[in-house]
Amino acid sequence: MPTYEFFCNRCEKAFSAEMHIAEHDRDVPKCPSCHRKDQVEKRLSTFTAVTSHKSA
Ligand SMILES: [Zn+2]
Repeated sequence: MPTYEFFCNRCEKAFSAEMHIAEHDRDVPKCPSCHRKDQVEKRLSTFTAVTSHKSA
């Protein structure tokens, strides 16, 4: 399962979580600090950035 990076605007903290691609498409995980997800946003994974050179 790929690991994605997220950022919680409430805590101003970055964190990472493992989730399926389909799950990542439509949802975000809870922040490990405040346990909310309304302020969590997706960050582009460094893994994807390094290994993929798509022109998307
Ligand atoms: Zn948080």
